[in-house]
Amino acid sequence: MSDRHDILIIGAGLIGLCTADALAMRGALVRVIDARPGPCEGTSFSNSGMIHPSQAMSWDPDKIKSSELARAFKNAAKVTARLGERSKTLIIEKMDALGLPKHASGCLQLFSDIDAAQEAQNEYNDIGITADIIMNETDTFNRPACRFPDDTSGDARAFGCALAADLAARGVSFVYQATDLNIRRSQDRFFVRTSQGVFDAKHLVIAAGVQSPDCLALLDVRLQLNIVSGAAADFELPKQADDLPDCPVMDAASRSALTVFSDRVRISGGWGLDDPAPLLARWGDIAPGLMLHLGQPRSKWSGLRPVSPVGRPYISGTSIPNLWVNTGHGHMGWTLCAGSGELLAQMITEGREDTRFAFSG
Ligand SMILES: Cc1cc2nc3c(=O)[nH]c(=O)nc-3n(C[C@H](O)[C@H](O)[C@H](O)COP(=O)(O)OP(=O)(O)OC[C@H]3O[C@@H](n4cnc5c(N)ncnc54)[C@H](O)[C@@H]3O)c2cc1C
Repeated sequence: MSDRHDILIIGAGLIGLCTADALAMRGALVRVIDARPGPCEGTSFSNSGMIHPSQAMSWDPDKIKSSELARAFKNAAKVTARLGERSKTLIIEKMDALGLPKHASGCLQLFSDIDAAQEAQNEYNDIGITADIIMNETDTFNRPACRFPDDTSGDARAFGCALAADLAARGVSFVYQATDLNIRRSQDRFFVRTSQGVFDAKHLVIAAGVQSPDCLALLDVRLQLNIVSGAAADFELPKQADDLPDCPVMDAASRSALTVFSDRVRISGGWGLDDPAPLLARWGDIAPGLMLHLGQPRSKWSGLRPVSPVGRPYISGTSIPNLWVNTGHGHMGWTLCAGSGELLAQMITEGREDTRFAFSG
């Protein structure tokens, strides 16, 4: 047997794909297994496209209000923001390498009044994020807003699909429609049984999004994740697009965003929503002229965010040797995918010790 690291990854979403990429770049022999027919068919299918280290603070309203947890969550936000900054650089480099279009830099976030915007600006500054206050601009629909000059955006699914094709060309193998997962460990190897056959490897990475706890439970490892749904509606790109914002615009109150992609406009987000209807009503209040112009959505979608209860993702080993987790990225999975993949790959192939995103199970 060769002395290359041989590694199985469960999950072909943004996190599993970026982990595969970082491992393959380090010379590992990688196989990715997914129950669905192709890459990015789970939560990574239709997100808001924002690469936003600015949003590293938990979006869970209960966590934000509890003063007892506030300090722990602020620390978690700081490390998550730094990972997001590194990840952004890696994503942009990879987009260039894959020939994907670049988006204008920056994201905006709307607030009900200037006091709320200034309070938020202070909180952003506290975790090392630059946020400029802007007032009454066309792009902010004449509302007070924070502008995050260091954020950017891009089509996450297009990225994931292009990355999966590139990985396959570089020798990473993919097994899709692999259902009925079972895992056992014997003689220092993992044996993963699926409807597509049995695969074995020395290392196993669980990057299965909201299903990660179920996968780990097969090996008696307990991981707690909260599941928070969000929704999206896609519209045709209007022929006359002059009044569309240049960068994604978030609405702080509804945790949603309006994003203009090269081939569509998307309204997406919400915290605990299975249907985009309330978001469309909200954006009807914010931008009535634009919503009238967009007309009816061409498609609707909803997905489940894997939210770690500690306010930062789990990128870590576990109590079982060579069993690794990369999950719990919540509303930040597109932003953090490449940085999370790199970090886990460094732990596996280079023995890097890093407890910032540790998981104790
Ligand atoms: C509406 C919405 C908007 C968002 N907007 C943004 C944004 O603007 N910016 C941002 O950074 N993040 C955003 N996010 C978050 C981001 O999309 C997620 O964090 C990210 O997609 C999670 O990726 P993942 O790879 O962990 O999960 P997934 O994409 O769900 O991938 C997990 C994969 O594992 C597979 N799997 C699971 N169990 C098994 C099993 N037993 N056997 C085989 N395969 C299995 C699944 O089929 C799936 O393909 C948004 C999320 C939502 C819902």
